[in-house]
Amino acid sequence: MDKDAVKEVFLPNREDCFKFLRKKRWDEKGGVKCLYCRSQNIHHNGYTTKGARKYKCRECGKYFNDLTGTIFENRHFSIEGLCRLNLYFTSY
Ligand SMILES: [Zn+2]
Repeated sequence: MDKDAVKEVFLPNREDCFKFLRKKRWDEKGGVKCLYCRSQNIHHNGYTTKGARKYKCRECGKYFNDLTGTIFENRHFSIEGLCRLNLYFTSY
């Protein structure tokens, strides 16, 4: 079995992880808020290469994404990191 095949089998479903993350981080707290000015006037602005949804604040013009301000932001987004999303946001 080659490496890629192993990855296919064990890689957690990234989109499901992000769905969970968004639910915990935004939906359960009343929707997406700007991390800088707390405005809810947010524009969805595509996705990062990691699969996080990107946002642009219409008030202050700053960009952020699903991972901005979390422990995952500046870290290589590993498979085990994905697995920890669930735990992290449950206790967030
Ligand atoms: Zn803002």
